Amino acid sequence: MQIVKLPKENLDKFMGGLSKFGEIHAPIKKDENTYLFSKIEDLSKIELNYNRTILPPKKYFLPPNETMFRFSPEKGYEPPQDNLNKKYVLLGVHSCDIHGLKILDLVFSGTYVDNYYFTRRKNTSIIGVSCIPDDMCFCRSMETDFVEDGFDLFLSDIDDSYLVRIATSLGDDMVRANQSLFKEVDKEDIAEYKRKSNERKNYFKIDLELYNLPEIMDLEYESKIWEEIGEKCLSCGTCSMVCPTCYCYDVFDQLNLDGKTGERRRQWDSCLFKDYALVAGGLNFRSERSARVKNRYFHKQRGFVAQYGRPSCVGCGRCIQSCPAKIDIVEVMTKIRSASYE
Ligand code: SF4
Ligand code: SF4
Repeated sequence: MQIVKLPKENLDKFMGGLSKFGEIHAPIKKDENTYLFSKIEDLSKIELNYNRTILPPKKYFLPPNETMFRFSPEKGYEPPQDNLNKKYVLLGVHSCDIHGLKILDLVFSGTYVDNYYFTRRKNTSIIGVSCIPDDMCFCRSMETDFVEDGFDLFLSDIDDSYLVRIATSLGDDMVRANQSLFKEVDKEDIAEYKRKSNERKNYFKIDLELYNLPEIMDLEYESKIWEEIGEKCLSCGTCSMVCPTCYCYDVFDQLNLDGKTGERRRQWDSCLFKDYALVAGGLNFRSERSARVKNRYFHKQRGFVAQYGRPSCVGCGRCIQSCPAKIDIVEVMTKIRSASYE
């Protein structure tokens, strides 16, 4: 992998030059300690020093709701009007969120490849940026605090410059198009990068033990802990919506008043919603809140491991920050582990 250096005084010029590669979206500050990925019209609004955005980058590839196709007796099925082929540059993506996208790639490339998702993936370049963990981050425990691929460029802060890793030919094009803004890295830069990387480890306050966790979850399947959490859970689904790796969606047809034309839509769904497991005949096989909470945790830390060899949690801390009932995934997992030792 090629590595170059971007002095911070050249950052604005570089970001400005990115618009020829697509519409730029990046984190902006919404309120105190609240950030979101947004279309950038004013480069000065970009906030590269942020903890986490409200919604992860998945919103660009699996939008909260979208038209899959339109239908009518005259024209049959028509593709959606929204521009799937538009080019985007997603700037300022954290390592954990890049891992989140890599997990979604696994899911959407399964038996039925999701062309909506992958067309957007193909048309969106990813520029990652390093971050300093806060007291809700546990990406280090989930081994997502560093990323080796899944981006075009990755910017690591080394004080007065960014050390820039180039991972793809598109990333290389981006650097070449702005060649005069970049410099070669020297020994001091590498030393500073290593020093910063080591220093960063000290900021992590949460250490979630993953060893044997799938087995422990199996052993604690009937634990009373699930009922305790079910008592607190409001079934609001926020934890799923903000999660970079939750991907459930509902598909439905929206018919126009003529009764003939309409569109097929999909929108995010959540396994925490009361009716998520409601099937024909009125049976709801997860009608209890405790069963739904348990299902989410089992899927993330048990089922996904069995299917894909890794948990589907990247330790971003969004569900901890957003849960109105203050249910904390790390506390839950820690309790489950403790219970298995009793
Ligand atoms: S955010 Fe909290 S309260 Fe809402 S569904 Fe998730 S665990 Fe339950
Ligand atoms: S489960 Fe929570 S901490 Fe893990 S990836 Fe999803 S939102 Fe982030």
